[in-house]
Amino acid sequence: QLLAAERQLSASLEAKVEERTAALRAAQNRLIQSEKLAVIGQLASSLAHELNNPLQAIESGLGLVMTELDGAAPEVQQDLTIIAQELERIQTIFRQMLDFYRPVSHDHLPLDVNALCDGVRILMRKRLQEAGITLQLQLADSLPTPCGDSNQIKQVLLNLILNAAEAARGDAAHIELATAAQGETMRITLTDNGSGIAPEHLPRLFEPLFTTKTRGLGLGLAISREIIERHGGKISVASALGTGTTFTITLPVTGVCDHE
Ligand code: ADP
Repeated sequence: QLLAAERQLSASLEAKVEERTAALRAAQNRLIQSEKLAVIGQLASSLAHELNNPLQAIESGLGLVMTELDGAAPEVQQDLTIIAQELERIQTIFRQMLDFYRPVSHDHLPLDVNALCDGVRILMRKRLQEAGITLQLQLADSLPTPCGDSNQIKQVLLNLILNAAEAARGDAAHIELATAAQGETMRITLTDNGSGIAPEHLPRLFEPLFTTKTRGLGLGLAISREIIERHGGKISVASALGTGTTFTITLPVTGVCDHE
């Protein structure tokens, strides 16, 4: 009997050690991810600082040349348009990378999440319409109020919608943005019926610099997770290849917010 008890004890100890080791490994992994983010942020901010002036000079020079060559041959104008577009792309990359270097502090104000969702819908309306994608809102009637920084949450929603739009396919491309109250939290879900995510990619999705796109940066989801966790919330993903993807954000609603 004693032997059986001892065996049971050692089995349960082993299970506990395994559980703790897994938790430790996960924590260590997260630490590496945040360090990676911090290093990218510092590098991006010093690079952007150095390159901003010459980039601005190129931009204004290009503007002048484009005006001067207004009547030039179509091929020349086409080349200039390509240069302008690529310059714009460089600037967008810098803007995204600089997002890592935001000050740590952020607003802790009451958030009207439904209004934020509607604002994002209006911002994205033209772009989605042109791509033939419908965006539907399913907003809860009485939503509890989380505290936070509306610009940052807006940025997260934009990141998710841009990804969903890129994954969208076919005539019935559809995105749904929904809000709901959920106990001591509130929930935002964004569902698309796009390409879905390969199961082997799911564990790496929120890693900085993880991308499957040839022109992707792999920063959108890493930044989004950083923002949501700074708000005390969580972001998760569920996806099926060929069917679509759902991102779920939960934000706590029990805190006391600052006043405007
Ligand atoms: P990027 O968009 O620059 O690749 P993100 O961090 O925003 O960086 O996304 C990382 C990867 O996650 C994408 O390259 C893509 O493979 C995948 N992904 C994100 N959202 C979706 C989605 N809604 N549907 C399918 N794949 C997605």
